[in-house]
Amino acid sequence: MNMMKNVKFLKCIQCGKEYPALPDATTCLCGGILDVVYDYDYIKTKLNKVVLSKRNDQTMWRYRELLPIEEDTSPEGLRVGNSPLYESPRIAEDLGTKQLYVKDDGFNPTSSLKDRASAMAVTKAKEAGYSTIACSSTGNAASSLAGNAAAAGLSTYIFVPARAPKGKIAQLMMFGANLTAVDGSYEETFDLSKKAIDKYGWYNRNAAINPYLSEGKKTVALEICEQLNFEAPDYVAVSVGDGCTIAGVYKGFYDMFSVGLTDKIPRLISVQAEGCCPINTAVTSGQPWTPQQENTFADSIAVGVPRNADKAIKAIIDSNGICVNVSDDEIKEAQKYLAKNSGVFAEPAGATATAGLIKLSLEGKLDKNAVIVSIATGNGLKDIDSAIKTVGEPIHCKNDLKEFEEKFNL
Ligand SMILES: *Cc1c(COP(=O)(O)O)cnc(C)c1O
Ligand SMILES: [Zn+2]
Repeated sequence: MNMMKNVKFLKCIQCGKEYPALPDATTCLCGGILDVVYDYDYIKTKLNKVVLSKRNDQTMWRYRELLPIEEDTSPEGLRVGNSPLYESPRIAEDLGTKQLYVKDDGFNPTSSLKDRASAMAVTKAKEAGYSTIACSSTGNAASSLAGNAAAAGLSTYIFVPARAPKGKIAQLMMFGANLTAVDGSYEETFDLSKKAIDKYGWYNRNAAINPYLSEGKKTVALEICEQLNFEAPDYVAVSVGDGCTIAGVYKGFYDMFSVGLTDKIPRLISVQAEGCCPINTAVTSGQPWTPQQENTFADSIAVGVPRNADKAIKAIIDSNGICVNVSDDEIKEAQKYLAKNSGVFAEPAGATATAGLIKLSLEGKLDKNAVIVSIATGNGLKDIDSAIKTVGEPIHCKNDLKEFEEKFNL
């Protein structure tokens, strides 16, 4: 039974069929993805700027009126959310725009934005009475689920492509996940996880299958609004793989607008890798999306068969968004640029949004009077091998001041 006064029902984004908001709901009978539909009139009576300003909770749950959890649920586990929003006048100047902010979501407990979805998944699994939770992932959803489940006392079965970077594998092993590294693409990884979940009936934390994950991810947008004093930015740049993140970002801004806390919805800038851009290709061509190869070193967005393409495409179009594809070299340059100019060391997919902004700026397509937020979705320490390849080895020197001075031309 739905015990959530703030949620009306779940609605299929494909055929419109409505379902009760059960904690273990998955997809529509037609295969379409479900969206959580809120009662904004009810929420408006509970949530406003004064209520928020007096609230001590510094986690994503401070927005609980806009989240699909039962009124008597008290989420426990890791401290997710409230990541910093850094203003960078230097980057704004380089890009030729008015204001530029970096939202550092690598600041989350397992070092990626995925913690927002995993904290939600763990909370819903507990509401539904499950003790085991499973997912497939390019890496971050997996390590974040393992960490959040460990904190909440749930066990996990997790599937990642064998190519996942070592840092993420190390997290998974440390958190005690029942981990399978699948020798194959992300698509095959997802497929194996689906077969196992169908057979064993574990709680499903797969992106797009579980309608509550985007709702967790949207808290990044709710925070951005509050951090900007309820002035929504003009543009928000997001890197896109499965499409759950950008769909969640849209939903968060849509919620804020719908309850009257902000007066506009930002235009989304969807950034994908040139070697794997099925969602952007669909939006720019106006055709349905088709599978692509996974040709990029930015592992978190190497998603050839996006699971949440429909919601993502809708989010980009509804926000009057912009699509931009970047090469691996452009991502590497952006990763270095972002770290050096803002102090935020992001993993490749975490710097991809910035790569998109740099590209738009070079092409003269960036609005000069805009307030822009670039979301850094994951921390760079997760993938040290690729980082060292990008920046090279350090200068070596013996304990000899002269040699040191020569090396640095001092
Ligand atoms: C998962 C992820 C993305 C993309 O999110 P999707 O929901 O797959 O589109 C971007 N960056 C990082 C670091 C991620 O882990
Ligand atoms: Zn349907």
